[in-house]
Amino acid sequence: MNELNFKQELTAAFGQPIAENPTQVMIEAAYRHHNLDWRYLTIEVGPHDLEAAVRGAKVMGFQGFNCTIPHKVKVIEYLDGLGQSASLMGAVNCVVRRDGQWIGENTDGKGFVSSLKELTDPARKKVVIFGAGGAARAISVEVALAGASHVTVVNRSTERGEELTKLLQDKLPCYADFVAWNSTYSIPAETDVVINATSIGLFPDIDARLDFDLNTLTSAMVVADVIPNPPVTNLVRDARAKGCKVIDGLGMLVNQGVIGIRHWTGIDPDPTVMRSALEEVFG
Ligand code: NDP
Repeated sequence: MNELNFKQELTAAFGQPIAENPTQVMIEAAYRHHNLDWRYLTIEVGPHDLEAAVRGAKVMGFQGFNCTIPHKVKVIEYLDGLGQSASLMGAVNCVVRRDGQWIGENTDGKGFVSSLKELTDPARKKVVIFGAGGAARAISVEVALAGASHVTVVNRSTERGEELTKLLQDKLPCYADFVAWNSTYSIPAETDVVINATSIGLFPDIDARLDFDLNTLTSAMVVADVIPNPPVTNLVRDARAKGCKVIDGLGMLVNQGVIGIRHWTGIDPDPTVMRSALEEVFG
């Protein structure tokens, strides 16, 4: 857990330096824009202190918090309940106080689907997703809940890829299959949506490229990249050059922030303000 969200009047004093991170900058830009007297702070919590931190946040009247690696799974032990997708994924990145209870949600995949819906409705779509880590799990569960008919998981490690594929096959109403990514991948012609949910392209490895045959990417496909830094990855560049509709990693980050703010404050924040704040951070 490293981000805690609470009303400003509840802040007393922190005897530790509080680092700013991009999510904090984005969320606080929305708070200012909507004249919300709230704060969103970045706080490091070590693995052994997680339970105490969650209990502390509750007794101090926090409205909720985001949590990230390594706390996304472990935090569940200390919560009172889970939303549907968080329960399916077995991972929480956003905790919300509801009627005095801590409820765990997962906003990563929901943020992604909000961005995707700006370009296409995932219902009845065929999706290829590269990756099988936390982001891929959140996104593939959420696109399947949104009605995608077919999800192909393409991943380097077979164990992780098969585990995610089994989750989709067992728990979600879509057809799912796995392709071990050990050679150049050809995107099937009938694919509607191609998603990079690996960390390939993340700063500082900005020259990295996904190993797939660019000739199999067509302008009819929507392409999404989760990498927020830099937002214009080689995949984004290649897909635009091919004439595809493209979603960059900032879209997902902004939309998961929008959903978090809605959960905590009940306000629907302006995503353009949040995106501008992020663009400033990432140049
Ligand atoms: P994980 O470590 O859980 O998963 C990483 C995935 O990338 C795995 O599938 C891994 O494959 C794959 N991978 C990494 N390097 C390579 C490589 N060189 N070749 C092939 N596959 C590779 O990370 P997360 O899922 O949590 O995060 C993935 C990315 O998503 C990060 O870059 C993160 O910044 C981004 N993200 C963006 C968000 C947003 O809002 N825009 C939100 C959350 C995450 P393998 O299983 O074989 O190791």
